[in-house]
Amino acid sequence: MLKVDKVVKEFNGFRAVDECSFEVKKNTITGLIGPNGAGKTTMFNLIAGSLKADQGEVYFSDQKVNSFAAYKIARLGLARTFQIPKTLKKMTVLENLMLVPGGQSGENIWNSWFKSSKVKAEEKENESRAYRVLKFLELTHVADVLAANLSGGQKKLLELGRALMADPELILLDEPGAGVNPTLLNKIAKNILKLKEKGKTILLIEHNMDLIMNICDRVIVMNDGKHLVDGTPAEVKSNPRVLEAYLGE
Ligand code: ADP
Repeated sequence: MLKVDKVVKEFNGFRAVDECSFEVKKNTITGLIGPNGAGKTTMFNLIAGSLKADQGEVYFSDQKVNSFAAYKIARLGLARTFQIPKTLKKMTVLENLMLVPGGQSGENIWNSWFKSSKVKAEEKENESRAYRVLKFLELTHVADVLAANLSGGQKKLLELGRALMADPELILLDEPGAGVNPTLLNKIAKNILKLKEKGKTILLIEHNMDLIMNICDRVIVMNDGKHLVDGTPAEVKSNPRVLEAYLGE
């Protein structure tokens, strides 16, 4: 589903990502871990197309995407969430979801004047999709609540919901467990597992090792911009090189 091949990204001569290679198999949950500054966020930006690699290739579903703009990669079926949820505070939960899919007919003034029935049908479909996402995430009861009034964990769920609106194949989750209380953390873990059951592929950056151990099929460890090791959660946990990398943080 995803292949990163000898990717390099430099900032002012500093290699944040240094000839890093790994693969993520379809329909798996893969954790991307490593000490602070290991290059994980930069790697997410390179995969999603918000940064361009200086060297190396990124393949998504067998297509070389490293020169593609972020919106084009998103259209191919990649969605991401951010560590700090990017919800629009003055809009309701439902509105936050309905804003996501691009290219709606209503965005075009000609369409909204002369093709109102088509626009209305699309809006209806978009709304039902938003309600399906809310149901999946068990957030229906807050559909009309302003995003500003959600708890930190609910905002994380909404962020996941926004990613799901486009029905992506590959979902990049940036610290879904950060700052979330244990009840919501369980819910987030359950939702990630449900997404896998639906055939989705998930790559997540996470510092919460319990979450990594409980839900991941594979774990990739980065250190100093490089791929350090990968394996099952148990293999990675017992690898002395991983402990050493964290101790050197
Ligand atoms: P992680 O997510 O693993 O903590 P990052 O990808 O955020 O690591 O950062 C990797 C390294 O690259 C860090 O040393 C960071 O300071 C540096 N870095 C990241 N983004 C930039 C940037 N835009 N400009 C300069 N340095 C950056």
